[in-house]
Amino acid sequence: MIEGIDLSDYRILLLIFLVLSIIVFLRYLLFSGAYHWIFFVLFRKSFKKKMLFDQRLKARQTRREVLMSLYSALIFSATGLGLLLLWQYGFTQIYPNISDFPLWYLPLSVFFFLVLHDFYYYWLHKWMHSSSWMRPFHMEHHKSVNTSVFTSFSFHPLESFLQAVIVPILLMIVPMHPIALVATLMIMTFSAIINHGGVEIYPMKKGWKGLHHFIIGATHHDIHHRNSKKNFGLYFTFWDRIMKTEK
Ligand SMILES: [Zn+2]
Ligand SMILES: [Zn+2]
Repeated sequence: MIEGIDLSDYRILLLIFLVLSIIVFLRYLLFSGAYHWIFFVLFRKSFKKKMLFDQRLKARQTRREVLMSLYSALIFSATGLGLLLLWQYGFTQIYPNISDFPLWYLPLSVFFFLVLHDFYYYWLHKWMHSSSWMRPFHMEHHKSVNTSVFTSFSFHPLESFLQAVIVPILLMIVPMHPIALVATLMIMTFSAIINHGGVEIYPMKKGWKGLHHFIIGATHHDIHHRNSKKNFGLYFTFWDRIMKTEK
């Protein structure tokens, strides 16, 4: 239960929704902008060989992506509000006292969440490509072939909802402390930015030494934006490997 906040007052709910929307949207703009500036302005020369294509932001594409991301931020915030209500009425496994579980469980809960989220996203994503009625909605995201950091949140509102709804569902299953939840949300944001950022930041060593064999990065997801029959995963490569959809 959340102490000291009256979630039965609709004005408080509206205020929380507005504050959440501003935080989510500014977080997207700030982190995406910072990532682009670091790799394509500040260290442009050092990362030139790691760039997948000419990464100059195109005004028209960026305007469309930021607008769609604003809608996504509103949907993610509405889902966040729904999560707060579920937490308030005792439907989630969120535990506010850090001592309720051993400290080593804190990072493990983040890992559990990511593995389950990855499983959900792989099958959702594969379905969005194969379903004749869902595919046009998912194609909003695929309008960006040369992706940029701002593509990271750019989805049709229906897809944003399908992506967001899994978070409260997983929190009804996986016990999580709010710190672990915030860390997970940050990983989600950064992973989306890294996958669309157009620069490969993970070591591309051959064989099993290379991190890119396990963790999805810009190269892996860039291939998906060019060949929509391959590379459906979100964080880890194993579903694409098991289902033989990896290129
Ligand atoms: Zn994408
Ligand atoms: Zn896709």
